[in-house]
Amino acid sequence: MSEASKKNKVSERPDSLIMKCNDCREEILQKDPQKCPYCGSANLISKKDDVPNIIAEIEQLKKAGKYEEAALKYEEIEMLDKAKECRNINTGKVSAISMECPHCGKSQPLSSKNNEVTCKHCSKNYLIPKKVLDLL
Ligand SMILES: [Zn+2]
Ligand SMILES: [Zn+2]
Repeated sequence: MSEASKKNKVSERPDSLIMKCNDCREEILQKDPQKCPYCGSANLISKKDDVPNIIAEIEQLKKAGKYEEAALKYEEIEMLDKAKECRNINTGKVSAISMECPHCGKSQPLSSKNNEVTCKHCSKNYLIPKKVLDLL
């Protein structure tokens, strides 16, 4: 049994240090690069400066219905919540779950991740099990 082939590579680089080439769009992993090692361009931007551009791209992807690609881009800029949201839209999971009120027995769709909801029918509060919230 050899686990040696399993590379445990954790990339914990601070985001602000990552530079990107504005010409060939490659990521440059050197510290304080003077020019792009791939194309020689001196037109470098930090990845953080690029975020508004990426968000604009994501908006385009969402409009085109490419939610999976948009989610990947969100992950690239470490907006993981947004990535998850995108994927939920993609799979049509959003508010597909309803809960039955323990007081009056009427069900209503869950629209938020609050663990306490107010019944629309009898106005009493009831708790949503964590198991159900995880499905949202
Ligand atoms: Zn370049
Ligand atoms: Zn009720």
